[in-house]
Amino acid sequence: MGRVYNFSAGPAAIPLEVLEQAQREMLDWNGSGMSVMEMSHRGKDYMSIAEKAEADLRALMAIPANYKVLFLQGGASQQFAMIPMNLLAGKTSADYINTGAWSKKAISEAKKFCTPTIAATTEADKFMRAPAAAELKLDPGAAYVHYTPNETIGGVEFPYVPATGDVPLIADMSSTILSRPIDVTKFGMIYAGAQKNIGPAGMAVVIIREDLIGKAAAGTPTMLDYQTHAAEGSMYNTPPTYTWYIAGLVFAWLLKNGGLTAMGATNERKAKKLYAAIDGSGGYYKNPVEVGSRSWMNVPFTLPKPELDEVFIKEAKKAGLVTLKGHRSVGGMRASIYNALPESGVDALIAFMKDFAQRNP
Ligand code: PMP
Repeated sequence: MGRVYNFSAGPAAIPLEVLEQAQREMLDWNGSGMSVMEMSHRGKDYMSIAEKAEADLRALMAIPANYKVLFLQGGASQQFAMIPMNLLAGKTSADYINTGAWSKKAISEAKKFCTPTIAATTEADKFMRAPAAAELKLDPGAAYVHYTPNETIGGVEFPYVPATGDVPLIADMSSTILSRPIDVTKFGMIYAGAQKNIGPAGMAVVIIREDLIGKAAAGTPTMLDYQTHAAEGSMYNTPPTYTWYIAGLVFAWLLKNGGLTAMGATNERKAKKLYAAIDGSGGYYKNPVEVGSRSWMNVPFTLPKPELDEVFIKEAKKAGLVTLKGHRSVGGMRASIYNALPESGVDALIAFMKDFAQRNP
């Protein structure tokens, strides 16, 4: 059929079964005589799609009833501003943990609204690790603590959830949501751009504890106030209906395949074997991240000579392994191995890497 293994960091691979179902339903959803993208977002058919998607996500993540689930536009990047606008709640400082490119973006946006306090930073170590729990200097008076559990570019992941006491913990889970079970009650808010483990681009999912809603600063635009979207079931205006629908198909696919426990076991196995192949290559391939902070989702690695990068990418493509080029700020390679990238894709990449190393000593 010509499908490749797509290692893109996002927009990323979507499960084949989901694409096939969307294809079957493209012209006529469930006897409605129209495509989902042609439906009124307020009609009965679309409402059933939207509600099922939310119910399935709640089941998958065991989201308690006192959390709202919002389907918003503007991507994860818009959340960088919405968080201080809505969650400072009259305070002037918030704690931010700095572990790389994405936390930096969140911090620079927060500076427009408050004085972010850097509770920990690993910049001195070139962001090659997550800080240990003991390194976090948390302010009990902070409005909230923000962190990035998985840095998509650096491939650095927190092996623990920071304990923040009564201060709400806010997590940018763009590149790790749905990769394994988590305890939602530890978080005040979780948010994620859709285009990795959720579905197509064009949407952010926000899971927010109800008591944090309704405290937006005066002057906050209607569309940037969580209250607006919570009160209207994310339908204050026209939502990204098709993205929401595909996300719903992905949630149903995850439930059908054993939920997040099964996904977590597979993801751990996939990551472990890829890191083992890198570490076992006699120094040919290198991943610079401290072992305890290595991401299960984004695996950057370098080759012995940068001149080999282009050859590697070209030959990998011929073997059906695509989008392996590292982020422009890092170079080398990056294999993003989200939920929809099957274990057979990781096996194929490992076999290719071994063969490539032998042929290009
Ligand atoms: N946070 C993280 C951790 C990301 O990986 C990304 C996108 N790669 C973003 C935020 C920004 O997401 P978006 O493009 O949806 O605004």
